[in-house]
Amino acid sequence: MTVHTPPARPLVDRYGRHISYLRISVTDRCDFRCVYCMAEDMTFLPKKDVLSFEEIETIASAFIARGVGKIRLTGGEPLVRRDIMDLVATLGARVGNGLDELTITTNGSQLRKHAQGLFDAGVRRLNVSLDTLDAERFRAITRRGRIEDVLAGIDAAQAVGLAIKVNMVAMRGVNDDEIEPMMAWAHGRGMGLTLIEGMPLGEVGIDRVDSYLPLRELHDTLARRYTLQKLDKRTGGPARYVHVAETGGVLGFITPMSHNFCESCNRVRLTATGQLFMCLGQDDQVNLRDVLRGGGPEALDAALDQAMLLKPKGHDFVLDRSRTEPAVARHMNVTGG
Ligand code: SAM
Ligand code: SF4
Repeated sequence: MTVHTPPARPLVDRYGRHISYLRISVTDRCDFRCVYCMAEDMTFLPKKDVLSFEEIETIASAFIARGVGKIRLTGGEPLVRRDIMDLVATLGARVGNGLDELTITTNGSQLRKHAQGLFDAGVRRLNVSLDTLDAERFRAITRRGRIEDVLAGIDAAQAVGLAIKVNMVAMRGVNDDEIEPMMAWAHGRGMGLTLIEGMPLGEVGIDRVDSYLPLRELHDTLARRYTLQKLDKRTGGPARYVHVAETGGVLGFITPMSHNFCESCNRVRLTATGQLFMCLGQDDQVNLRDVLRGGGPEALDAALDQAMLLKPKGHDFVLDRSRTEPAVARHMNVTGG
């Protein structure tokens, strides 16, 4: 186990929350167009605006120096960025050397070819997003994905020893009939399953009010059929976990809508163009790309202090028929999941 000396100047915001977790969106591009995440027609960022790997590494190092112990690569789809494994290798080399953990959230489409490389670089856990086990439904939700690729990716990842948590956005009338089968499947394969409430980010391809499934309700329904034991387990993220006695597996709930967890938020998010967002559901941001390109690595440190002053108390997602517009205009692929 790595023993850490606390950093001299930890990142603490105005509400006393300690920032220890950085999510980096390495690209806004994706080979899928999931209906809850994106519109059918998306315009992606010009490549010249996107941070180079060197810039991402410099920014990551500034955070690590201030006590950030966990980094998650996300997107868009992180594994579609060209030469992404070069970045994974460089950041992976920091694990045990400033960083406790490097993880990744992926749609799994490219996982088969990268599983071994991820493991070799020091990644040990992955989140794979999968909302259904039905091939037709999968194509409808992702608008273009092939479930066979994702399942082959999961097989490959498990074969090399990567632990997997499956993320499922739970949607009423879309995949709510699959929650129990997905749980049986995931737990049967030794994977966790985490259910996520859809959040109102950007204009997308489903009716968010109709498809909204409050997970508190679902938890109570499941609790009548299964023995759910609350776990203290925290993985650095917002999920709350239960152990399901009947399946022997772990079920997580991410409830940004029905139960706001902002008081314990320890995260900030870097976009592919270097905007640091302090909250997924608010617009407060610092342009770290301009800071870095204008003032070099030294200027970054001061910008992180400025960012701490901007972190809002929380998001205020509201979703009902009287307020159906997105909480923020940007889509989830910009700030990353
Ligand atoms: N492409 C990768 C993937 O799908 O895993 C990483 C990026 S994706 C934006 C990260 C996570 O956000 C996925 O689990 C996805 O299901 C979830 N997500 C996307 N849009 C969402 C929304 N509007 N509300 C809740 N979760 C969302
Ligand atoms: Fe792509 Fe992930 Fe968004 Fe789906 S959820 S469109 S896979 S970024």
